[in-house]
Amino acid sequence: MPAKKPHPWWKCSECGYTFQAKPPPPDTCPGCQQKCVFVDVTCYAPECGPGTPDPQLMNTPASERIKK
Ligand SMILES: [Zn+2]
Repeated sequence: MPAKKPHPWWKCSECGYTFQAKPPPPDTCPGCQQKCVFVDVTCYAPECGPGTPDPQLMNTPASERIKK
């Protein structure tokens, strides 16, 4: 039986603003008010626990994760 899944974490590729929201992420970033690409930074590893952002992903600049 699937447990109720917490919302994923999203990180703005422009300003790095991170927030938890129901998918799909919004078009406009709450942080920088731009139309941004959001990276899912939710940690799905068991040791993170459900519904927490991945510290490694949080520390990685989004620009390195998105190939333009
Ligand atoms: Zn932003």
